[in-house]
Amino acid sequence: MPRSSHPSTAAELSVYPPLANSAATEPETGSVDFGSLTLRYVIERRSRRTLALNVLPDGRLLVAAPEDATSAAIADSVRKRAPWVVRQWEAQRRQAVAQPRHYRSGEMHYYLGRQYRLRVEAGPAAVRLVGRRLLVTVADPTNTARVGQLVKQWYREQAQRHLPREFAAVLARLPATLLPPGPELRLRLLTMPSRWGSCAAATRTILLHPDLVKTPRHCIEYVVCHELAHLLIRRHNQAFYALQTRLMPDWPHWQQRLAELESLLETSAGLVSPSPA
Ligand SMILES: [Zn+2]
Repeated sequence: MPRSSHPSTAAELSVYPPLANSAATEPETGSVDFGSLTLRYVIERRSRRTLALNVLPDGRLLVAAPEDATSAAIADSVRKRAPWVVRQWEAQRRQAVAQPRHYRSGEMHYYLGRQYRLRVEAGPAAVRLVGRRLLVTVADPTNTARVGQLVKQWYREQAQRHLPREFAAVLARLPATLLPPGPELRLRLLTMPSRWGSCAAATRTILLHPDLVKTPRHCIEYVVCHELAHLLIRRHNQAFYALQTRLMPDWPHWQQRLAELESLLETSAGLVSPSPA
């Protein structure tokens, strides 16, 4: 599932503005369409033989081009490298969204797609939801490492409670004939470095990342359906997506939502894109 196939991300990225032209001379600019996205760029002419693309920290796209390159040739090069540009933008966006967890009062945490504000109070070690708060009581509320430990343990317990339930619910509503016959399907929760789910077809085992419990129920359902589809079709081809649509007609919406929430993965790091694999 290539990240550039996420339509919502593309739509949001299209707001990246061209360079503000405060200078007296207008910079040379260009744009190309890539899917639903328009890539705008500023051209810098240099005495060089090849063309180089550079995504600045603020998202602007600069093209260093040879003096004699035609604008059509530049546009063609940008179009060819558009997937790379989109990946850079997505990586920037993820970094902007990712919040380091400090486990102090006031911090936002997610549970089944809803936000809860962390509140830490002195008391016997416990974690519970109270209204829209994630209330942690602990002997020493300034001990954020201990608070973090308790919260992570609480998430693990919630994952063990909810994910098997969602998995069973999807299986229960599927026509039995849709899945290949064989021994009962198994579910395993596993903290995977860069994916929400995985399918071991040989052992009829679906793996889910425990942090899925932080995402909406339909996102969990989407990942389950995606992995179940892999029982029949390994590759992400047309037949695979047709089957996925049979299992969950509105999956694109939840795929999109999941992409927005990917920074919730505790293990997500750097540019690795978490997605169902
Ligand atoms: Zn897949």
